Amino acid sequence: MTETYKNYINGIWSTAEKNETIESHNPANTDELVGKFQSSTVNDVNAAVDAASSAKLAWKKCTGNDRGDLLFKVAAIIEGRIDDIALTMTKEMGKTLAEARGETARGVAILRYYAGEGMRSIGDVIPSTDKDALMFTTRTPLGVVGVITPWNFPVAIPIWKMAPALIYGNTVVIKPASEAAITCAKIIECFHEAGMPEGVVNFVSGAGSVIGPALSGHSEVNAITFTGSNSVGKQLAQKAVERGIKYQLEMGGKNPVIVTEDANLDLAVSATISGGLKSTGQKCTATSRVIVHSSVYEEFKSKLVKEVSAISVGDGSSEDTWMGPSVSQTQLDTVLSYIDIGKKEGAELLTGGEKVNESKGYFITPAVFDSVTSEMTIAQEEIFGPVLALMKVDSIEEAIDLANDSDYGLSASIFTSDISKMLSFIDDMDAGLVRINAESAGVELQAPFGGMKKSSSHSREQGKAAIEFFTNIKTIFIK
Ligand code: NAD
Repeated sequence: MTETYKNYINGIWSTAEKNETIESHNPANTDELVGKFQSSTVNDVNAAVDAASSAKLAWKKCTGNDRGDLLFKVAAIIEGRIDDIALTMTKEMGKTLAEARGETARGVAILRYYAGEGMRSIGDVIPSTDKDALMFTTRTPLGVVGVITPWNFPVAIPIWKMAPALIYGNTVVIKPASEAAITCAKIIECFHEAGMPEGVVNFVSGAGSVIGPALSGHSEVNAITFTGSNSVGKQLAQKAVERGIKYQLEMGGKNPVIVTEDANLDLAVSATISGGLKSTGQKCTATSRVIVHSSVYEEFKSKLVKEVSAISVGDGSSEDTWMGPSVSQTQLDTVLSYIDIGKKEGAELLTGGEKVNESKGYFITPAVFDSVTSEMTIAQEEIFGPVLALMKVDSIEEAIDLANDSDYGLSASIFTSDISKMLSFIDDMDAGLVRINAESAGVELQAPFGGMKKSSSHSREQGKAAIEFFTNIKTIFIK
């Protein structure tokens, strides 16, 4: 029997106002119904915000240690359910089971990291010029935080926003992406079972176009943290500026990899494939532009094409699958249209880019384009699919210029054994994540995460950076 997942408001699982639901189907087999979830209204959002608002004072007054204990409990419950949560993720949005398990384990680690933060110092003592005074800083929670998340990391992203929000004393209302709402509901079940006080965590599923504006426009919501597309991010930023509330946006990428003449080519090839094509290229940090020195271009290209052509595409729940389906028909159509545009604009398709026809899933073979130039659409727009664009250069300066020729600035990699090229890259690359001899995707939870230019609102998530967004600083002066 198909399960129907409910909203979670004020500690109670409830149906949406109109009792309407949305179906979630497996992108690897569209006949398979994974479950149903609520299609919420503005009134449902209002109820969730009211609950979060009523709970905020008591939650703020809890000790960091008490809040941390609860996060440790949530982590233990999720850890005990990794298999179920990962399988749900694979069935709902398509990534392979190995990746889904890795992501769920990451969620557990993030919870533990922030649980520990509950016992760490949150301010500084600052010497005063007045010998009779004591001056120090402390942090205070923002209040109610609206959390809006995408489908591509349906466990890690909700947790890396909720865990710091909660440990620093905020209450939350989360709205997950509809492509992975059930996976997120399963995480919320763990918060519930850990004994979160009523109203501290609230979950409302449904259309972004309904819930997003209701949440960001609600007078009791004090901050919005969002990960998703640039177009939605812009709308949220506008609303937040109008209302004078804090906002944090993590958006797209068009991440380059540079391969120099002295690079370890085998490493560069495998990291380009892993960084560009894991999760079917549906990562904000996925490699999409591959900028290679002319002296090693042909050798790199032939190794890359050989390996990409051998990638097994299929249902992510099968152990034989290296790359799962696109998340949806819309996403598949978008990728196919970029393949078409690439060909029309003169790039040469070396392999892949084909829909796998006789299947009931949104499968596409991974694509590599040759002879791509920077003004082409596939070199500029985020595709969010398994497409690599090869570009040839004659120097490190040209490579970095090309890598910077983008509206985005999230992640960038270089493969080189030359320290001076590494240093030029560190200095001159406009990206929030600068990676050397490592793939463009992949972040450590204790380090700041975020981008430059159109990729983010310039705040940073994760690690110590998270406290900056989720708290206000107070400077105390005692005479
Ligand atoms: P999306 O912007 O369509 O959706 C993200 C969330 O916003 C979803 O929950 C959606 O329902 C909601 N939403 C939709 N319309 C809204 C509105 N009008 N107001 C408020 N919320 C609304 O993005 P997506 O398709 O889910 O995710 C893909 C995008 O996310 C890509 O651009 C990708 O690069 C980006 N992304 C960025 C990061 C990062 O950390 N930089 C990580 C993952 C994904």
